[in-house]
Amino acid sequence: MSDFWNKCLAELRANTSAEIYKTWFADLEANDDEIEDGVLLILAPSRAKADTVEKSYGEKIRNLVSRLTNRTIEVQWGALPSEDDAYSYADPETAKPATAAATDISQTGLLPNLTFENMVEGNANQLAYAAALQVANNTSATPIYNPLFIYGGVGLGKTHIMHAIGHRYLALHPQARVLCVSAQRYIQEFTDAARMNKSGDHPEAFRRFEARYQNLDLLLIDDIQSFATRTGTQTNFFLAFENMVPRGKQIVLTSDTYPRNLKDFQERLLSRLTQGLVVAVEPPELDMRIQILLQKAQRSGLDMPEDVAVTIAKRLKSNVRELEGAVQQVLAYTRFHNEPVTLDSVRIALRDVFKASAVPVTIEGIQKAVAEYYELKVEDMVSKSRVARLARARQIAMFLSRDLTQKSLPEIGQLFGGRDHATILHAVRKITAEKNTNEELKHDIHVLEQRIKN
Ligand code: ADP
Ligand code: MG
Repeated sequence: MSDFWNKCLAELRANTSAEIYKTWFADLEANDDEIEDGVLLILAPSRAKADTVEKSYGEKIRNLVSRLTNRTIEVQWGALPSEDDAYSYADPETAKPATAAATDISQTGLLPNLTFENMVEGNANQLAYAAALQVANNTSATPIYNPLFIYGGVGLGKTHIMHAIGHRYLALHPQARVLCVSAQRYIQEFTDAARMNKSGDHPEAFRRFEARYQNLDLLLIDDIQSFATRTGTQTNFFLAFENMVPRGKQIVLTSDTYPRNLKDFQERLLSRLTQGLVVAVEPPELDMRIQILLQKAQRSGLDMPEDVAVTIAKRLKSNVRELEGAVQQVLAYTRFHNEPVTLDSVRIALRDVFKASAVPVTIEGIQKAVAEYYELKVEDMVSKSRVARLARARQIAMFLSRDLTQKSLPEIGQLFGGRDHATILHAVRKITAEKNTNEELKHDIHVLEQRIKN
């Protein structure tokens, strides 16, 4: 191994806990042949591990390498050659029945930073957070909710909660067989295995795929909506489900929408998805956004005064990822200019972000977004038709127009095919009331708001 990489490893060891170092960095190797050209290739024992370390620590390592070389280095990630090359993601280790050894976390697909401890709890994620804790902390042989189905809009913490369940579960059951994958990856693995099996060249491929998913204690699948139209994968997952759930093995799923709204799913699978607990994650309200900003700033070593957090939180409303991005931008700006975090420096650092969030919402934009979401024509938004489906979508659009624009009721009525203000008021009141009791409607409205503002 190169001297240069040893130096990097020494830095990593000095700056992380012994456990993290041992789990994630100790067995990485590197090829610095091309460092003169600005490229460093880092190799992990498996593709899965390379992916995980890159996702969680890629930036940290890139910064470190660039600092040590005094120039910008492009870090590439790969897997060390192994006998497993033909099918590298089907790690044979995980196919073995549980032994006395503790599970190697780097083989589980769990990203190290996505823990309950790193998560702010608030009204928006209260139910999902509590359910996730219950599932993760359950030590009895029978799951409380199975599957646990978590849904919500983009960037609200679904993936984070799911990984947190995995970490906690593994901490309580160190030998448990835990696997966390994105639905995309599951589809890829299934179709690859099926294809290799069919071609007859690799009859073992399918067996390996099955072994990887067999005998799991906890299976976590992210963004299950990607299974739409994937009939083969759906059937395969249905069988895995039927194998695990009756034996008391836990399944946790996330999705960008509620089960009834999943398109092109087999009926029998949909009915299984709702048989446990379905919980929503909502966009964080102001107070929670402030807490998240303060937590992210603190973890990045950034001293952010509360009034600054309040100002940012008031401007950036749609999701947590956006808040995280803002903290990173403030960090970069203030470090570079060697300035403290003040209202003034933040206004400059986030100029573009703030500008984008201030683009005025138009009623036309709302009508278009609502029509698309419910698969209607834009004309339906202003037509006189009383067909229930159309009338409801129209009322939702009226509600959003009232909420997101400065227009008066008569002005809104005018833009909805010349209706009077009482019609608009009625719609606003009806949707406002229903939103409080109907989780699905609430979710639809949140997603619509995200789309309209972007
Ligand atoms: P989703 O899967 O719903 O699109 P993610 O789980 O990827 O969202 O979350 C987006 C980002 O915001 C992640 O970096 C995550 O760690 C962070 N995040 C989400 N919710 C919270 C929270 N409640 N507290 C702290 N960080 C959060
Ligand atoms: Mg996600």
